[in-house]
Amino acid sequence: MGLPLPHAPSLYAATAVGDHPRAPLAGDVRADVCIVGGGYTGLSAALHLAEAGRKVVVLEANRLGWGASGRNGGQLHSGQRQDVSTLEAWFGRARARALFDLGEEAKRTVKDLIARHAIDCEWQDGLIHAIHKRRYLDVVRREVETLERDYGYAGITLLDRTAAAAAIGTDVYHGAWRDASAGHLHPLNLALGIAAAAERAGAVLHEGTRATRLVDGPVPKVVTPQGTVTADAVVLAGNGYLEGLDRETEAHVMPIHNYILATEPLGARADRLIPGREAVSDSRFVVHYWRLTRVGRLVFGGGETYSRQFPADIKGFVRRHMLAIYPGLADARIDYGWGGTLAVTRSRLPFMRRLRPGLYTSGGYSGQGVGLATFAGKLLAEAIAGDTGRFDVFAGLPARLFPGGRHLRYPSLVLAMSWYALRDRL
Ligand SMILES: Cc1cc2nc3c(=O)[nH]c(=O)nc-3n(C[C@H](O)[C@H](O)[C@H](O)COP(=O)(O)OP(=O)(O)OC[C@H]3O[C@@H](n4cnc5c(N)ncnc54)[C@H](O)[C@@H]3O)c2cc1C
Repeated sequence: MGLPLPHAPSLYAATAVGDHPRAPLAGDVRADVCIVGGGYTGLSAALHLAEAGRKVVVLEANRLGWGASGRNGGQLHSGQRQDVSTLEAWFGRARARALFDLGEEAKRTVKDLIARHAIDCEWQDGLIHAIHKRRYLDVVRREVETLERDYGYAGITLLDRTAAAAAIGTDVYHGAWRDASAGHLHPLNLALGIAAAAERAGAVLHEGTRATRLVDGPVPKVVTPQGTVTADAVVLAGNGYLEGLDRETEAHVMPIHNYILATEPLGARADRLIPGREAVSDSRFVVHYWRLTRVGRLVFGGGETYSRQFPADIKGFVRRHMLAIYPGLADARIDYGWGGTLAVTRSRLPFMRRLRPGLYTSGGYSGQGVGLATFAGKLLAEAIAGDTGRFDVFAGLPARLFPGGRHLRYPSLVLAMSWYALRDRL
């Protein structure tokens, strides 16, 4: 039996609020719902199910929030990972609208949870999308017009090159748009806050408990090294870390690694970088994203790898991306560097399914899981209670397999991703 791993050596782990150990599962228990994975998906499902009166057990192999939920960029985006013109081209206006509205509800769900449970996670309004290619300017202008005219979405301001440079302290971008109702937060503290709320509602959370096998039957059973959970419903919420439990999920979601650094507190320099304190993400396929924390550290994410290992020098790996945007930070000390594993789907829309009666899976939020994973937990709870309407909007989406199947998907992914990453530079 492998030992549970500690949190990644991140700024977030160093500033976690309410991070205390939970006992591993010992013995055989019966529950209404067993959830595998203690990130946003699993913890939010646990909270919403427990609030609905269900007996819930969460099994987390390591620490709660140990996965992507405790390591990410902390950016809460609007809508879906695909823009509405793409959604309309794929699915038509009505379905695009339904997906966009659910994305908006995801954003509201996170804000509601923070407010309702007084989660101390440094919420800050505002997100700026920076445009790295001149030819994208028209595309973005049309997208913003569509959002305002057809989707009733207010709160977007277009920034020309000069205004963008003033807003984000760099002139490397051709323009930007500011989204007032998106924003950013301390991701691990969001996860820990949802966990605490779930416990208060009656959910039982176990750390250091890896689910090693699922036993199908009229009532499914989840097997762990030191006990079992028999439950009417099982939720697979392991996302990029779910390995070996379910072939269908793994064939549809691809784990990829992404990296972040945090600088020392930048003092007065911080206000010159992002005077409005918004989060920023850019239009690259391999997105650069950054934000300032309350104490003025720059948290900067950039660079992905598709092999199984993290680079040896994560700080150096991310720093060169940061310096391409902020050369003036060459003398800033880098206090933390860490990596995490997220999961993408081929469409960049979540993969949610009821795989068989009593077995649910959700993942593949493709870099937009702060909102969508948290919301998926709510939809899973609704679906398990028999109200499948909104879950089915996602569950009914066509999902394409990654070529190469479970074992050969990595080489295919490396080829495809490398091509898109190259296009960022053309
Ligand atoms: C570096 C990075 C930056 C990101 N930036 C952003 C961002 O700015 N905005 C955004 O919206 N999204 C971002 N994301 C994506 C976002 O973090 C994820 O989509 C989201 O956290 C997924 O939550 P989850 O609960 O589904 O999975 P996770 O948080 O990964 O949780 C899965 C958990 O399941 C556990 N587990 C797996 N298998 C088992 C098993 N067999 N038994 C027990 N436990 C198991 C793992 O230990 C893990 O803790 C980023 C991700 C990364 C890695």
